[in-house]
Amino acid sequence: MPLHINTPLVHSRALSILSGKSVLLKLDALQPSGSFKLRGVGAVCERFAQQGKSTFVSSSGGNAGIAVAYAGRQLSIPVTVVVPESTTDHAKKLIAQESAKVIVHGSSWMEANALAQSMLEDPSVAFVHPFDDPFMWSGHASMIDEVVAAKAHFDCVVLSVGGGGLLSGVVEGLLRNGLAHIPVVAIETQGADSLARSVSAGHLIELEAITSIATSLGAKKVCANAFELTTKHDIRCHTVSDLEAVNACEQFLIDHRLLVEPACGASLAAVYEHSHDLLADFQAPLVIVCGGATANPMQIQNWKKQLSS
Ligand SMILES: *Cc1c(COP(=O)(O)O)cnc(C)c1O
Repeated sequence: MPLHINTPLVHSRALSILSGKSVLLKLDALQPSGSFKLRGVGAVCERFAQQGKSTFVSSSGGNAGIAVAYAGRQLSIPVTVVVPESTTDHAKKLIAQESAKVIVHGSSWMEANALAQSMLEDPSVAFVHPFDDPFMWSGHASMIDEVVAAKAHFDCVVLSVGGGGLLSGVVEGLLRNGLAHIPVVAIETQGADSLARSVSAGHLIELEAITSIATSLGAKKVCANAFELTTKHDIRCHTVSDLEAVNACEQFLIDHRLLVEPACGASLAAVYEHSHDLLADFQAPLVIVCGGATANPMQIQNWKKQLSS
C-alpha cells in the first residue's frame, strides 16, 4: 500500500466559466500531508525502510519536511527535521505533530542542511532530498497515472515549479502513459523563477536570492533534470506576481473551499488571471492543485494587503 492517496479529479465549473475552457483539477492538496509531496516522499521513504534504514532526516521546513514526518510515522521510523530559524511556528508545529523531532539550526536553509548532512555518517540514517531524486519523481508521476486511469481528457498540464521535482514527475507520468505530446505550462512566481530564468539564459542558473513570498517555490536552482526536460518536452515557462498568486488562493478558497499556499496559487493564477494569454493554445487544461499545508487564511489576507498597497 502506498502512503499517498488517490486524490479526487474534479471539473471546475467556476474556472471553466471564467476561462471559457474545460478546466480539470487534480486535488493533491487533499493528500494527508497537505501537498503532492507525499507521493514521491512516500515512495522514497518506503524504499529506505525496505533497505533497513532506521532514521529519516530532512532539512525542509516546508511541505517536504511535513511529508517525511508523516511517512516516518506511518512506517514507524523516527524522523528528524532540521529547519532554519526563519521557519514559522506553524510549520514547526505541523512537523512536530507528526511525531518528528524538529531541530532549529542556522539563519538559512544552507546551515540547517549542513547540520542534517552531518548526521548521515551513520549508514542507518537516510536523507530525503526535497526534489532532486529520480525515485521521488516516479512517485510524483502516479498523479498522471490516476488521471489517465480516470479516462480524463486534457490537452495541457498546468503546474508550479520550485526545485523541479513535480515537473520531473509529471513529465515522467506523461511519457509512461504515451502522452509525450501533451505540453506542460510551468508556473513560477517572480522572485522564485529559477527555471524560467535558466530557460531564457540557455543554461542552468542560480538565483542570488529568493524574493517571492511563495517559499515552497524557493529553490535558488532547479534540479538539472528539470532544466534538461525543457529541451526535450514542450514546456512553457511563465511567471506570475506574488499578488496574483495570493489573489488566486483567496478566490480558490471561495470557489472550491480549499486553502492552498501561494506556491499552488501560482498555478491557479494562470487560469484566474492569465487564461487568455498563457493558456490561449488550450481548451482543456489539467491543473495540478499541489496544495501546501503551511497556508493560513489570515496570512493570505495580510499578504494581500501588503502586496496591493
Ligand atoms: C514543493 C512544492 C512545490 C514545488 O515542487 P518542486 O518539486 O520543488 O518543483 C509546489 N507547491 C507546493 C505546495 C510544494 O510543496
